[in-house]
Amino acid sequence: MKPIQMVDTKGQYLKIKQAIQQGIEEVLESAAYINGPAVQRFTQSLNQYMGSKHTIPCANGTDALQIALMALGLQPGDEVITPSFTYIATTEVVALLRLTPVFVDVDPVTFCIDPEALQKAITPKTKAIVPVHLYGQAANMEAIMAIANAHNIYVIEDNAQAIGCAYTFSNGKTVKTGTIGHIGCTSFYPSKNLGAYGDGGAIFTNDDALAEKIKMIANHGQKERYYHEVVGCNSRLDAIQAAILDVKLKHLDEYIAARNAAAAFYNNAFANNAAITIPGVANYTNHVYHQYTLVLNGINRNALNTYLAEQKIPSMIYYPVPGHKQKMFSTFGLPEVNLPVTDWLTERVISLPMHTELDNEQLEYISSHVLKFVNNNI
Ligand SMILES: *Cc1c(COP(=O)(O)O)cnc(C)c1O
Repeated sequence: MKPIQMVDTKGQYLKIKQAIQQGIEEVLESAAYINGPAVQRFTQSLNQYMGSKHTIPCANGTDALQIALMALGLQPGDEVITPSFTYIATTEVVALLRLTPVFVDVDPVTFCIDPEALQKAITPKTKAIVPVHLYGQAANMEAIMAIANAHNIYVIEDNAQAIGCAYTFSNGKTVKTGTIGHIGCTSFYPSKNLGAYGDGGAIFTNDDALAEKIKMIANHGQKERYYHEVVGCNSRLDAIQAAILDVKLKHLDEYIAARNAAAAFYNNAFANNAAITIPGVANYTNHVYHQYTLVLNGINRNALNTYLAEQKIPSMIYYPVPGHKQKMFSTFGLPEVNLPVTDWLTERVISLPMHTELDNEQLEYISSHVLKFVNNNI
């Protein structure tokens, strides 16, 4: 059996090695290392794949979120509602811009922001909502957009874990996540579903004025060279990464299918086990399984993690400390919040190996060891 990894980026690379090397070689030969044809080509391919009006590439997913927030022209102290149960980047950028993060709870089945909790958290100072399509399925965007529109609030989708995910509205219309809110953001961090071989990110919007601002902010606040209209930053997608991503984008749907096949194997193995809850998928979204995350019921998670490690099976806790309990926010004078679902999930979730290269032998080995531990420890 091949050694089991949480993510097997190398195994995936070996299958597309020739095309990747050709892409890199072309950039090297072109000497267009910054914003050249490779970046333009990938930006167009991605824009088309997403069905977005505008796609603006940038240096990483965290920058994408920061630039998106900067484009909204918010003032210090304006409130931005986000889930606490997410990767830190979502809320870090809010704090970095001296905006006030307002943490709300998530849905216990989808792990995404709970629209009811969101509704309750709105105040006259609320200016934006950042829902996260956590682990690869969409938050309830129809409900979120309805609340946002009723209160004139911006929505920035954190689509870092869900690129390629499709959302279906109640009228039957299906679109890609990241193109529903006013702005969508994604990351090409190597382990993400569309991973570069280094850092990268992108911003999506259907709004022409926001697209202009985003482009300007990502480029030192200038439209015309050396004429800086606003304070911006320097956030570019590297040309070599763009060439790599352009090759990988052609395989994204096939990668999503491979992740779904692995998830189906796990789901089947763990079905009807009272001690394990398999990922629940809402009817308005498909799942691109950035992570395959179980909720344990009455199982000692650390002991399971140790047992699996002894069997050479990696497993991870995403995330061990939710945002509202991070020390970094302690100087912000934020009011105490009570997020029972977030706290409950934080103590019970465990993610199993999930990537495009898992074979049935590995999946059988992983799931049988999980079951062995669970069934012997109840
Ligand atoms: C990975 C990730 C980010 C940040 O992306 P980087 O490219 O690592 O900066 C933001 N939000 C979420 C939910 C992520 O998983």
